[in-house]
Amino acid sequence: MAPNTVLDPAADAARGRRLVALADRCVQCGLCLPHCPTYQLDRHEAESPRGRIAYVRAVAAVEFTPSRTGDAHLDRCLGCLRCESACPAGVEYGSLLALARESQAARRPLRFGTRLRLGLLARPRLLRALLALYAPLRALLPTAWRLLPRRPPAPVPGPAPARVGSGAGAPAVFTGCVSGLYETSTRASLRRLLSAAGVELAEPDGQGCCGMAAVHAGDRVGADTLAAANRAAFAGSGTVVCLSSGCVGQLRASLAGAAEVSDALVMLDALGARLDFRDGGGATIALHLPCTQRGSTASVTALRRLLARVPGLRVVELPDTGCCGAAGLHMLEEPARAAALRGPLVAAFARSRADQLLSANIGCRLHLGNAIAAPVRHPVDFLAEHLP
Ligand code: SF4
Ligand code: SF4
Repeated sequence: MAPNTVLDPAADAARGRRLVALADRCVQCGLCLPHCPTYQLDRHEAESPRGRIAYVRAVAAVEFTPSRTGDAHLDRCLGCLRCESACPAGVEYGSLLALARESQAARRPLRFGTRLRLGLLARPRLLRALLALYAPLRALLPTAWRLLPRRPPAPVPGPAPARVGSGAGAPAVFTGCVSGLYETSTRASLRRLLSAAGVELAEPDGQGCCGMAAVHAGDRVGADTLAAANRAAFAGSGTVVCLSSGCVGQLRASLAGAAEVSDALVMLDALGARLDFRDGGGATIALHLPCTQRGSTASVTALRRLLARVPGLRVVELPDTGCCGAAGLHMLEEPARAAALRGPLVAAFARSRADQLLSANIGCRLHLGNAIAAPVRHPVDFLAEHLP
């Protein structure tokens, strides 16, 4: 089977030099280890950021022949970047991981399942049609095959969402890939909230996956193709509003210089003075903060402020037990590990005694929703439900 990138010795050498330079910032202090979910799971140096950096550096410096075992440890990295936040030496682990996986993809073909999944993510219409077929059949499948989540909760009842805006320069919503189907009701909720604040939202055709899954897999060509499609789709748009915390960073990189990207919660919070919410009736809700949202103080603050605007509501913020295990394609490719990482969060939700769980990232919601019987929803759906 051919590798995923055309062999280019000059590009390989440049990538190797860059990888060594990135890895050499690591002083091997180990302060990141307690923050790394895979190290916490296995208690194995090779499953830690420091171990992965050492492996990547040795391979890039041609001091070590890449091995299946070493590659497997790199494959299991969740890309959660908790190590980067904890590192006192300023190691840019995200850049190192992306480059290391490009390097891997140039010498080792992507697994068939990974290529199939990336191919589907790059074709949102086909993906949407297949997911719609899968949903009613899911309950009939053996448990081990139910890796894809059930469909999301029904749309929030209430007045019809505002019509889709179309004017040039109007804010536009990002639909993404899986969320194209699984967040239909959430986009309607967002339109309703923005409409209440006097803002119309466009939904341009031709957009697709943000490309984060392709970056995680080392498929640079695929990620660049998706970025080009999104740049074309959003040409002439105003601010691009992103509902999923896991897509914001990659979408921002893809649209740099073409359009501003705003986290939907940050935008709603900025309009908060124009929004009123009805009483929460003493309900208790649990709040999960995804790794990708924890990396954005603005998004976390915005969400807390928005929920505080709903009177009569008790919010239980779940403890930070580490990555939930969704991590892009990880929940599909390593289901047993993904379930083990999810366990502490599921237990924390049970202890919260809340009747629903809110989380701002599509991947986390789908993964958690496979293990929690209560509704697992985007905060925007909850907020729209509490409009007067
Ligand atoms: S905290 Fe930073 S410098 Fe220390 S081992 Fe981890 S990556 Fe290396
Ligand atoms: S990105 Fe997450 S899983 Fe990967 S090494 Fe860093 S902390 Fe560990």
